[in-house]
Amino acid sequence: MAENGHYDVLIIGSGPAGFTAAVYAARADLAPLVLEGMQPGGQLTITTDVENYPGFPEGIMGPEMMDKFREQAQRFGATTLFRTATEVDLSRRPFAVKAEDRSFTADAVIIATGASARLLGIESETRLMGHGVSACATCDGFFFRDKELVVVGGGDSAMEEATFLTKFATRVSIVHRRVEFRASRIMLHRAEGNEKIDFVTPAVVEEILSPDGELEVSGVRLSNPETGESWEHPCQGVFMAIGHIPNTQLFEGVLEMDENGYLITAPDSTRTNVEGVFACGDAQDHVYRQAVTAAGTGCMAAIEAERWLGERD
Ligand code: NAP
Repeated sequence: MAENGHYDVLIIGSGPAGFTAAVYAARADLAPLVLEGMQPGGQLTITTDVENYPGFPEGIMGPEMMDKFREQAQRFGATTLFRTATEVDLSRRPFAVKAEDRSFTADAVIIATGASARLLGIESETRLMGHGVSACATCDGFFFRDKELVVVGGGDSAMEEATFLTKFATRVSIVHRRVEFRASRIMLHRAEGNEKIDFVTPAVVEEILSPDGELEVSGVRLSNPETGESWEHPCQGVFMAIGHIPNTQLFEGVLEMDENGYLITAPDSTRTNVEGVFACGDAQDHVYRQAVTAAGTGCMAAIEAERWLGERD
């Protein structure tokens, strides 16, 4: 296992972007270190079937796929470490990265920290998180057998989570703030064709309701954003599927980012505003946000890091 030390390339994050960068950097003989972060394997570890990653015609389970990514990186000499980067100093080279109890330096850093679930930010959501409120159907769906559920959101995640939850729940209501859905047609049709799923639109969650003093969910108070009408919708669980926010807080004030926190890279490149620091995957991509595009930019980051290191030599 990696102790403190110096690496040619240090990769922060372990989703498809981070591990693909690790495969390429390792095969370029750069023996990278991967700090796996708080969610080793990234967001695919909390999903079920991955059906749209080329090469898997029958689909593959997300966690299994990420185990394979990790194995492949290790096979070529990448070191992977279950630690989260807690501090970075990108103001001088070699760059310094602290990961909990460990400290590392590196000539090049690849940021692949991905994104995390967005939440509504209301008090009842915080209070009831883990007590009937969840942002991960795959993780928690099992606990909601024979319950009535609400899934909040109108994108692919909402459709996917709602469809998955019908394995357990008696009814799943997709609550979305608009009448139009941004979900892809195939995902929307699948949800529409599921007799356990209904749609409540346009509706905004004002509050998640719980019986007096109890840490459990008894419903949601919804309102129609067009008419202001408000009503209660009974349910025993609420799943948030309203998108993601990039995990880039560690780089605030150092790396250029847009107003939503996505790292800005040079056009057609993964180069950030700090020479020797590259960004890939969902931390940098707010447009495509797919496993395969994350893997693609991870590959780009490793090649660019290798070339940059070569030029310095
Ligand atoms: P998304 O596409 O950004 O959709 C987020 C949804 O949440 C939108 O419908 C949005 O409403 C709604 N929303 C955002 N903030 C909200 C708020 N504060 N209150 C209420 N509603 C809010 O996110 P996603 O569904 O997580 O998908 C992200 C990416 O992953 C997409 O590219 C998607 O295609 C991909 N994905 C793919 C699959 C698959 O192919 N199997 C599965 C999951 C995700 P508005 O529409 O009104 O903005």
